[in-house]
Amino acid sequence: MKVNTTSTSSVWRGLQYFSVVSAVALIIVLLVRPRLGLFIAWDVLIPLVPIMLLVAPMLWRNVCPIAVVGQFFERFGLSRRRKLPRWLQRVAPTISIFLLFALVPLRLVLFNLDATSLALLMVVTVVVSLVGGAIITGKAAWCATFCPVLPVERLYGQRALVNLPHAHCETCSGCTRACFDLIPSRSLSVLADSHNKSHNKKSPLRPMSLFAVAFPGFVLGYYTAPAGISILLIYLWILMMSVIPAVTFTIIQRMFSLERTTLHRICAALAISIYYWFTIPAIALAVVETFGTNAGSVWLINSVRGVLLVVAAIWLAAGLRNRAVIAV
Ligand code: SF4
Repeated sequence: MKVNTTSTSSVWRGLQYFSVVSAVALIIVLLVRPRLGLFIAWDVLIPLVPIMLLVAPMLWRNVCPIAVVGQFFERFGLSRRRKLPRWLQRVAPTISIFLLFALVPLRLVLFNLDATSLALLMVVTVVVSLVGGAIITGKAAWCATFCPVLPVERLYGQRALVNLPHAHCETCSGCTRACFDLIPSRSLSVLADSHNKSHNKKSPLRPMSLFAVAFPGFVLGYYTAPAGISILLIYLWILMMSVIPAVTFTIIQRMFSLERTTLHRICAALAISIYYWFTIPAIALAVVETFGTNAGSVWLINSVRGVLLVVAAIWLAAGLRNRAVIAV
């Protein structure tokens, strides 16, 4: 088990401030040039996040502008540094998964199309993180607890190909359990109760474990939701697409006595592969719609897809090999 080191170098600080300025600029662009703002958000910035989480998750954790804003009061000694109640820490993973499953389908009918709504969502999130950080210690007000991206960070960040230090908490106040920043490789397995072999078969499914097996279907459901249906039907579609593979994966795990950590890695590789399979052609289409120019041939689209699938396969192989080495 490797505990992550802390870095407060000026390079990280520079990247963090640049990230906050960029987020403010994006909010302004969303309001004054909505089409361009939506393109930058959904077709440039967001597609970079999953691959960043797979390869070097601490890069995203360190420079996410919402995390930086949340640390503002703590950094300057102005936070009241209260502890988040234990019961709230316990239900935080469930709340963050619920927020993810509630917000992502809304992209199809709202956030992908309406730049003002997206700008408003960004502002609300920044305010919640900032105000929370003024009261709660560490990152427990938002990015280590309730952030809807955190379950995805835990899933994809199980086995970083490139290890980086964390660059927020100069001294750890133990603000949350299973801290991603301290031990990224165990932040999922601890919550899913799959790090301990003796617990592996006895314990009931935990929210994070359930999330891991449902996520590939969730991503597939998002991209295959029939066009023109109501938001209620979109939720039902995505729910159905999440439940079917989750049940199937769980049955397979039981039948073949697979370790949950192995299953979680396979699910992560599958989910990110599905994501990029659908996202790359969508980006090419968005370039055509936004700028009126062709973004590249089918050959180029398939080449980018291929490269990303190979990265996912390398990540999976490295994770499984690591487990085999530990078992030996
Ligand atoms: S547990 Fe420690 S390192 Fe992790 S977010 Fe909280 S204060 Fe920072």
